[in-house]
Amino acid sequence: MKPQDKMKKYILALDQGTTSSRAIVFDCKGNILSVAQKEVHCFYPFDGAVEQDAEELYTSILSVITSCLEKGKITPNEILAMGIANQRETTILFDRKGKPLCPAIVWQSKQSSKICESLKEWESFIQERTGLILNPYFSASKIRYLLDQYDLMEKAEKGEVLFGTVETYLLYRLTEGKSYFTEIGNASRTLLLNIKTKTWDDDLLHLFHIPRKILPEIKDSSSIFGYTSLFSNVPIPIAGILGDQQSSLFGQTCFEEGELKNTYGTGCFLLMNIGKKPKWYSQGLLTTIAWGMHGEITYALEGSVLIGGAAIQWLRDELKIIKTAEESETCARNAKEEELYVVPAFVGLGTPYWDNRCKGAVFGLRRSTNKDAFVKATLESIAYESLDVLKVIEKETQKKIPCLQVDGGASNNAYLMQFQSDLLGCEVKKSEIAETTALGVFYLCLLTMGKVKNLDEIKKMHRYKALFSPRMDEKTREEKYKKWQLAVSCARQFN
Ligand code: ADP
Repeated sequence: MKPQDKMKKYILALDQGTTSSRAIVFDCKGNILSVAQKEVHCFYPFDGAVEQDAEELYTSILSVITSCLEKGKITPNEILAMGIANQRETTILFDRKGKPLCPAIVWQSKQSSKICESLKEWESFIQERTGLILNPYFSASKIRYLLDQYDLMEKAEKGEVLFGTVETYLLYRLTEGKSYFTEIGNASRTLLLNIKTKTWDDDLLHLFHIPRKILPEIKDSSSIFGYTSLFSNVPIPIAGILGDQQSSLFGQTCFEEGELKNTYGTGCFLLMNIGKKPKWYSQGLLTTIAWGMHGEITYALEGSVLIGGAAIQWLRDELKIIKTAEESETCARNAKEEELYVVPAFVGLGTPYWDNRCKGAVFGLRRSTNKDAFVKATLESIAYESLDVLKVIEKETQKKIPCLQVDGGASNNAYLMQFQSDLLGCEVKKSEIAETTALGVFYLCLLTMGKVKNLDEIKKMHRYKALFSPRMDEKTREEKYKKWQLAVSCARQFN
């Protein structure tokens, strides 16, 4: 061991999200030493379009790294490795110097819808190859859109355009252009990866009319992706990369087949580890790559709720009936029991419906309905929407969910978590470290750097903070869920 290696005792986990960039320094036991966060901007140039500035994503990462180290009084030489968790699917085209050639198109953006519509006849073919649905949400149609819109096709054919999702771009910049790779889980979100062969698929590239030249090389999640020398003359290895939802699945230690987590953020994302072989599902569930390690792939299924915690933001910012998201818990506890259902389909419905046209609705209003009841029903809708996804997961996998692990902002709401446990009829577990996205790449770096021998050691390190056990009887649960389904079907009829 070189003397300088003795100093290396910390892991720097980066989390580049849609609304902010964060840096967290962990010691090798999983204690957090320092955190820094910086907001990043989204631009809405026209209806349905959401864009970001890739340069800003990168500079915000530099800024949070510097302030995180400063706050924790940590020198770069003490960093053993760096890990990156990133918002997924967001599409960046840049030149060999790392300069963005156009705005980054954010995952939520629907500006490439027409491209997807034009490929409708290929839908099942695309699903068979990629495990995904044909939707502008994923990168391929965004790349096609940018190549056309910014007249980049000729340059692309000449090899002067590079494509990257956010992890690729950050890696390229942090390594000053030396590493041009994508992580395999992120690659599986582009609609261009064949999830069986784990390689870029020429037929899909042909369909989307995308030159192969612009794609990065694919690497396992647990790899040395490169080194950054931007912070000290001792290069820091970048030793683990995962997309944000995959990282939270890893951070929740869902290493065994059948283990699953739900993240209650703006939307809700349910991912379940489905083992080492891909399986295909219907009912709007996606098959995706969770992570790759030593050439072995772990697959996941994924279901999405489009409006989760965002429904609480709506109560706060639009209706202004609560001042803080936390207040929703007090309201729900004060409310009288009544049959009130809010369907927060503000941007349509995700799994299992994938109904773009559905609008939000409220059912069961009475003269006596007050603010508390309204807040309670909105809060409960997040649990019902998640239940819709969990029900199709149970149906498609033919397995009863044994326990749900949770994270994300709205998982701090104990009323909601208890209600979720009641509806599901199983335990709901919340981890001690709420930052499970960063925790995932932290664990991954420990593994790559040999600080833990295997996944079992990570599982032993992981600590839980709260456990919710079901209290509702089966009959009540079923009646409530029936009413919810009725509310959703009525909302879908209103067009
Ligand atoms: P994202 O990563 O999508 O930005 P976060 O995990 O930070 O989301 O969670 C933020 C969301 O959680 C917001 O939509 C907010 O309304 C909701 N939220 C935060 N705290 C609570 C709470 N105590 N009760 C209900 N919802 C909450």
